[in-house]
Amino acid sequence: MLTILYRGPLASCDYDCGYCPFAKRRDTPEQLRADRAALERFTSWVMAQDTEISVLFTPWGEGLVRSWYREALVRLSWSGNVRRVAIQTNLSCRTGWLADASDRAALWVTYHPTQVPYERFLARVRSLPVRHSVGIVGDPAHLAHARRLRDDLPAETYLWVNAQEGRIYSDAEAAEWTAIDPLFGYSRLPHRSAGLPCRTGETVISVDGDGEVRRCHFIPRVLGNLYDGSYRRSLRPRPCPAAACDCHIGYVHLEPLGLYDVFAGGVLERVPAAWPQVSRSGR
Ligand code: SF4
Ligand code: SF4
Repeated sequence: MLTILYRGPLASCDYDCGYCPFAKRRDTPEQLRADRAALERFTSWVMAQDTEISVLFTPWGEGLVRSWYREALVRLSWSGNVRRVAIQTNLSCRTGWLADASDRAALWVTYHPTQVPYERFLARVRSLPVRHSVGIVGDPAHLAHARRLRDDLPAETYLWVNAQEGRIYSDAEAAEWTAIDPLFGYSRLPHRSAGLPCRTGETVISVDGDGEVRRCHFIPRVLGNLYDGSYRRSLRPRPCPAAACDCHIGYVHLEPLGLYDVFAGGVLERVPAAWPQVSRSGR
């Protein structure tokens, strides 16, 4: 069983979030062609393997406005060796095409309140025929939006809150966000990770458009290449070499946190196992 976080060259987005370097960035036609070719190569490779694989697409920008990401999600969801295929998305795309995907497709949806009318976003989430989580950045300006969304989403939809980069939350502020996402405590502060066992580099890898394999998105050292098989001999248990890990797509694999139990069956799309009965105490 191998979990792959894939990030190709795509670096453009149709949204313009104030907190994002990819806001309204455009890729040239050549960059888009290269991204499409890289994704198609990756998809074919996954489907040709005889081991069980889970995939999370984590594009820098927005993938689902591109037909090749929609097609990859649908194709991989029907591949016999794919346990789960998920993508991080702002959900600006239409959703009808998801009816063609199997129940192994999933979405990690982020709500950006300044970029989309509330009712349109809510209706789109409610129309989703596949597993999904919905989330928001814990900017104080988003608090009212987050509360409203929590009230309006079905109880079975998990709404996560990501701590805003660089923000220090007082206990009172953290309590406000924890009332919306009982697991906010995991995001509030970076996790000290140096020397601790992390599944990345053993059962989880990060792959770029050229097939270069790294243990995770945050450690630059290349372990080998996916397409020549050279990454395989590097896979083994290994401690984290970084001081801290502050991103959910990283620390969810940090073993001492026990998040594979909290998110059992939904690690990639960030759906807690017991939601909505998950512990209200958070952490
Ligand atoms: S939707 Fe995501 S990628 Fe696009 S600008 Fe906003 S934060 Fe950046
Ligand atoms: S703890 Fe985070 S930074 Fe360290 S190896 Fe794991 S994913 Fe990478």
